[in-house]
Amino acid sequence: MPSVMTKKNVVAIIVAAGSGNRSGLAQPKQYERLGGRAVLDYSYAALSRHPMVDRVVVVIGEGQQQMATKALAAFVDEAEFVVGGADRRASVLNGLKHVERTGRAENVLIHDAARPFLPAPVVDRLIEALGTHDGAIPVLPLSDTLVRGQDGMMVDGVSRESLYRVQTPQAFRFRAILQAHLCCSADAPITDDAGLLHSMGVKVALVEGDPKLEKLTYSADFDCAQTIQTVDRQPRTGMGFDVHRLVAGKPLWLCGVEIAHSHGLSGHSDADVGIHAMVDALLGALADGDIGSHFSPTDPQWRDAPSHRFLTFARDRVKARGGMISHIDLTIICEIPRIGPHRAAMRARAAQLLDIPIQRVSVKATTTEKLGFAGRGEGIAAQAVATIMLPNL
Ligand code: MG
Repeated sequence: MPSVMTKKNVVAIIVAAGSGNRSGLAQPKQYERLGGRAVLDYSYAALSRHPMVDRVVVVIGEGQQQMATKALAAFVDEAEFVVGGADRRASVLNGLKHVERTGRAENVLIHDAARPFLPAPVVDRLIEALGTHDGAIPVLPLSDTLVRGQDGMMVDGVSRESLYRVQTPQAFRFRAILQAHLCCSADAPITDDAGLLHSMGVKVALVEGDPKLEKLTYSADFDCAQTIQTVDRQPRTGMGFDVHRLVAGKPLWLCGVEIAHSHGLSGHSDADVGIHAMVDALLGALADGDIGSHFSPTDPQWRDAPSHRFLTFARDRVKARGGMISHIDLTIICEIPRIGPHRAAMRARAAQLLDIPIQRVSVKATTTEKLGFAGRGEGIAAQAVATIMLPNL
């Protein structure tokens, strides 16, 4: 039996109000795309889907409403924005005041949008620590040697012992952190929320952070984040199957290649059965409907349409989800024509359309020993298996 979780009334505030001008990017870093998603979308998703978090409020900069709405398009029904202040501290206070005005919160997590990869166990540890403390922060030990320097010269070494790097989210009992923000002098040289609380004499617990929670500050951090994002993908598999009838006097398209033959495939589009199977396999891996739900067979705009358009559409759906196509395996089932002589051209064309190396595309063929509709030459069938890698949500 799972243990019954006590409701802790946790609100998360994501601070996304910065202009991010140290990153050298065209727009504030929290709205920059990372694997097809905005940076802000990652931590929003992590917090919003965490079972202990009841509500997520995003503090944005003046004039950032449009960018923020676009960044959180997947959460259009629930995303809640508040405009921030002149600096980070003023922005957090605006967020806290908004929460106080609009609901009830016993606990609050305050998180920087520039830390996109937020593992759920960090949130678990923070909320657990709030059971016994007014504040808790995720920290990591230092691994580099530390020195003090002056005028470009080493002065002396500094012991790493009892030093930690502090990450976010930082977790607080709501009343305590609101009080600290309201009471602490505005020009106190304190850079984070835990510092404010601590300066009031309140004890703050340390919990284990996570290396993935690194903050994106410089453009090089984005390269590193791209790598994490790539590693953080999971394989998904989809299957596609299609059949079209062979009729006399039509061009025969298979896997994007025109093949000289007495018969061609009949259908609303060019009836390229190989491509249709691959499209359904990709859409299946995305759990995103099928070819008919995106390209209705009754819609006149797809009459005689070249099927490569359907395949590039499916490819772009994978890209839009931050995914990549690992592999396609296509089997064409027919008695005639012989597929062997065209196999290399089919692989090359499919790889080109899918924008992947040819080594990741397999095209096979089989007959049905003259059995059934394929065996009688009445039609051609195709089946495909697609393997894609999608961000781990
Ligand atoms: Mg079809």
